[in-house]
Amino acid sequence: MHYDYLVVGAGLFGAVFAFEASKRGKKCLVLDRRSHVAGNIYTNDVDGIRVHQYGAHIFHTKNRMLWDYINQFAEFNQYINSPVAVYHDELYNLPFNMNTFSRMWNVKTPAEARAIIQEQISDLSIKDPENLEEQALSLVGHDIYEKLIKGYTEKQWGRDCRELPAFIIKRIPLRFTYDNNYFNDRYQGIPVGGYTPIVEKMLKDSVVLLDTDYFDFTRNHEGIADKTVFTGMMDEYFHFTFGALQYRTVKFETEKLDCDNFQGNAVVNYTAGDVPYTRIIEHKHFEFGTQPYTIISREYPKEWQPGDEPYYPINNETNNALFAKYRKLADQQKNVVFGGRLGSYQYYDMDQVIDAALSLTQTEFA
Ligand SMILES: Cc1cc2nc3c(=O)[nH]c(=O)nc-3n(C[C@H](O)[C@H](O)[C@H](O)COP(=O)(O)OP(=O)(O)OC[C@H]3O[C@@H](n4cnc5c(N)ncnc54)[C@H](O)[C@@H]3O)c2cc1C
Repeated sequence: MHYDYLVVGAGLFGAVFAFEASKRGKKCLVLDRRSHVAGNIYTNDVDGIRVHQYGAHIFHTKNRMLWDYINQFAEFNQYINSPVAVYHDELYNLPFNMNTFSRMWNVKTPAEARAIIQEQISDLSIKDPENLEEQALSLVGHDIYEKLIKGYTEKQWGRDCRELPAFIIKRIPLRFTYDNNYFNDRYQGIPVGGYTPIVEKMLKDSVVLLDTDYFDFTRNHEGIADKTVFTGMMDEYFHFTFGALQYRTVKFETEKLDCDNFQGNAVVNYTAGDVPYTRIIEHKHFEFGTQPYTIISREYPKEWQPGDEPYYPINNETNNALFAKYRKLADQQKNVVFGGRLGSYQYYDMDQVIDAALSLTQTEFA
């Protein structure tokens, strides 16, 4: 069998590309080394609760075209992401808004909240922030930084905030309204039935091989397709010739509990440094589940090692320079294109991935 496209990765990027190519009469073979499709947006049905196996995924976008695009594959519910943060025995609404400030300082009006933040920032008189701690303090003052940013960020990056560069936090949105909707995007929701059926629909006209690693497969199937769309790690594609790019990863500890409602919210952040995890996700709340039991996942960020799932690219100067070298090699490849968050070494939200895959489609089928 010969194919027009060999698509490496049955994640969202690969699936959107395969769907669009199939629509145009192209034959696609899609490989994934995992035992399921959907990549990181995979949702696993456990006793009627859709578990977001690789971390909580909320679809949100400003772009009407992308919203309409994804809606052709699923109906979305009215879920609005409104996480809360636990700091020792205190609980705060996120993102930082009037509910947060009111709980922190017992204030009622935006003017009172602004005055406190401004006073704390002025007291510190940081002119040229030299690290993330100084940057955050100069934007929100002492209280918000100590209670809601410091511990969480240090767990996320595995480093003291004073050792992290200031540019990681460019701005910290402060909302002076009582609005707990985390995203500013107009369109938001969770697909009814989870994300996996969306990807299954996208791949319905492709041949899909799971548990199949590209590097093993191509040893015996050279020339099986005219062109390859590679959505895995670009440094791995080139056998780490220039060295390995760095990532952060997350270890998930998931358990089923014999209670109907563990924390009352889908996402609870733990912002104190002495709690080892960053978040607890209670999956049923994404779909307003009414089961008498529940499933939760604790998230422990850590440094990526070979064998771990690479979740977050670390886009510092060294890694970006290394990626630029790989990008040059990639541009010289005939009949191989790279895409997706690993192939681009970019943190992409789902809407951005769809957008990028559709752009590739336009170039390929112009
Ligand atoms: C913890 C976490 C939370 C997130 N939350 C959100 C959110 O709330 N909202 C949002 O919009 N976005 C979110 N995202 C981003 C979202 O997951 C990505 O935008 C999207 O999944 C990227 O799709 P992709 O196809 O590029 O990559 P992936 O989903 O990683 O797919 C790539 C696939 O390629 C396969 N592969 C790699 N190498 C090989 C090989 N050599 N051979 C065979 N197969 C291979 C992998 O197994 C994988 O399945 C989150 C990401 C993470 C990590």
